Amino acid sequence: MSATSSLGYPRIGKQRELKFALEKYWGGKLQEQELLTQAAQLRLEHWVVQSENNIQVLPSNDFSLYDQVLDITCMVGAIPERFRHLRGQVSDLDLYFAMARGWQRESEQLAAMEMTKWFDTNYHYIVPEIAPDQEFSLRDFKPVSEFIEAKNAGFLTRPVLLGPISFLFLSKTTDSLFSPLQALPKLIPVYCDLLTHLAAAGADWVQIDEPCLVLDLDEKTRVAFSEAYALLHDTPGIRLLLATYFGGLGDNLSTVMNLPINGLHIDLVRAPEQLDAVLAAFPKDKILSLGLVDGRNVWRTPLEPAIRLAKRAAQQHGSENLLIAPSCSLLFSPYDLALEDELDPEVRSWLAFARQKLNEVAVINAAVNGKEETIAQVLAENRKILADRTASSLVHDTQVQERLNQVDASYYRRQGSFAQRKRLQQEMLHLPLLPTTTIGSFPQTAEIRKQRALFNQGNLSLEEYNSFLKQQIQHVIRIQEELGLDVLVHGEFERTDMVEYFAEQLHGFAFTRHGWVQSYGSRAVRPPIIYGDVSRPAPMTVAWTRYAQSLTTKPVKGMLTGPITILQWSFVRDDQPRAGTCRQIALALRDEVQDLQSAGVKIIQVDEPALREGLPLRKSQREAYLDWAVDCFRLVAGVATDETQIHTHMCYAEFADIIGAIARMDADVISIEASRSKMELLDTFHQFRYPNDIGPGIYDIHSPQVPSADEIVSLIEKALQVIPAGRLWVNPDCGLKTRRWEEVMPALGNLVAAARRVRQAIS
Ligand code: GLN
Ligand code: ZN
Repeated sequence: MSATSSLGYPRIGKQRELKFALEKYWGGKLQEQELLTQAAQLRLEHWVVQSENNIQVLPSNDFSLYDQVLDITCMVGAIPERFRHLRGQVSDLDLYFAMARGWQRESEQLAAMEMTKWFDTNYHYIVPEIAPDQEFSLRDFKPVSEFIEAKNAGFLTRPVLLGPISFLFLSKTTDSLFSPLQALPKLIPVYCDLLTHLAAAGADWVQIDEPCLVLDLDEKTRVAFSEAYALLHDTPGIRLLLATYFGGLGDNLSTVMNLPINGLHIDLVRAPEQLDAVLAAFPKDKILSLGLVDGRNVWRTPLEPAIRLAKRAAQQHGSENLLIAPSCSLLFSPYDLALEDELDPEVRSWLAFARQKLNEVAVINAAVNGKEETIAQVLAENRKILADRTASSLVHDTQVQERLNQVDASYYRRQGSFAQRKRLQQEMLHLPLLPTTTIGSFPQTAEIRKQRALFNQGNLSLEEYNSFLKQQIQHVIRIQEELGLDVLVHGEFERTDMVEYFAEQLHGFAFTRHGWVQSYGSRAVRPPIIYGDVSRPAPMTVAWTRYAQSLTTKPVKGMLTGPITILQWSFVRDDQPRAGTCRQIALALRDEVQDLQSAGVKIIQVDEPALREGLPLRKSQREAYLDWAVDCFRLVAGVATDETQIHTHMCYAEFADIIGAIARMDADVISIEASRSKMELLDTFHQFRYPNDIGPGIYDIHSPQVPSADEIVSLIEKALQVIPAGRLWVNPDCGLKTRRWEEVMPALGNLVAAARRVRQAIS
């Protein structure tokens, strides 16, 4: 008989208990021991919930106080040089948090380790730093102690470990001649050592995660897999289940098939097509774990197709060697749908969060094991709900469909060429050389948060709140005029979040109250859920922008979040391709551009900070993604007349591989993150001969430091070496909402002064 299993459970807790405990601990309001006790309670709760929901093979060590990659970094002793002296000076726990969050005491400041996105999820891991002379040793026994903890509570678990190849694959190094993978021979003994300890503690199976197996791998990495697993396999008493997820094995299949492993987990939600190839090649006496329930999205599983896949596997592989599981860890799912009593009941009936997904796993397993009569009712209900969803008027909007059908090539095009547009815009705007601007938001002060909270609690009327926001806009317009900025913004005070603000005003989106998913450490986000065709019932930003423009004769830039970013930071429909959903969002935003333009707004910025992170994991799929992503941006901007200046903004510096797509977006002006890399990325724009205007960020808003006018002048001069003065803008590298006025005022003052100095020198 096949069995049910789970690859990992959300760890922040049903009510984000972990977040609050961590923040108390960091604020000095909770003792270390209390934090650890609360963490242990959460772990226990998660084992209980999973086993009560009929999961037979439970994970341990899926819990983390901050991040599972950082856990391994500490476990194998890969403490970066700059933190090492803290050892012994502070507790191991505080050293761990110092690596995650940075360290500040008296005169000493240590930068946190870098954080980056975990594959194509919105979870961020802490990037290990591996030195060429890196040594490793088994420095803590977290996987062992959590295994024992579960055992003492009556649960025999399968510990989860991030595998050595993925660990090194995700690492970085400062030495360009060295690749972290070269450290593998030193790392493997530590993993072997750990496995031996796990065996001694009574562990039988270990789940070893190697998600990098769904990426394009070079020959060296494939060879590394063979070498590493030959050694790991030798640990007496331990059986290894190699877990892959977020995609198919594709051309890594034969590498995996030749590994001496005892079991394999594959993702059949992202890549159902890989089942036959795996069944044909994978030995029948090994365990095959089928990821059939989507760990990455919020929809109820269509049970019958999943059961059909599982039965096919059972027929060919034998059900006794099968496991039924979610596609990946449930870390990426909200915790429990039962908490959402305010959600539209119809939409709610279509959803499954982590706890509900466990039950779906159990139902599929029951079907494989021939217990059809016990689940007949569940299946009938599932069929009915899916049919209801397919037919629901909440999902389908014929007007949206009709409009999409009308879209032809002309929708994606501006009328004139960039040169023509630029001339017309300049006639309207009369901007000086090296125009100065900001990216949109101004500091979100305690006062703003307070008024918003009062309004949300019903203790402030809409009129009072709106007039408060108007005062803020007046203030920020006056300040920008005094500072002498050339293109002003309204400050975005009415927005808490750049996606939520738009999603709340669009049709087709739903919002949860407790649907939190971990973003990093103690931070969680609550992504909107796109359930239906998207449309815009009314203008979303026009009133605020128009109001701001009425206060000044300088141009005020309208501020929109782009379609790709709204898509990327939401849970998306699984009943149509992402591209289709994105196109609908684009059409809605297109209407907003048109309305802003009609209201007299001459400059409109469409932010796309998530464009890059939407890139598919496999290179072969990237071009297709970039094509539709660029199309969606152009669908938004295409309605602008030649006189309207379209800006876009992206807050990262890696453009080398997507510069062609960035150029195809054809924004009149692009602002980008550049100050941290000291303008190095401009080479890419130069070599590519990027044709339009560029504003490389010259004020690093991620740091409280105020750049001096001299520093800014030298950055502008550096930029001028590769970008002609006529196409260069001067701006910070992102929005200012996380900064304080005390920093922003002098920084922007210096920014304007620097631009003026350079302007004078060159004109
Ligand atoms: N306009 C947004 C702001 O200034 C852009 C934010 C972003 O790029 N993430 O806050
Ligand atoms: Zn940004």
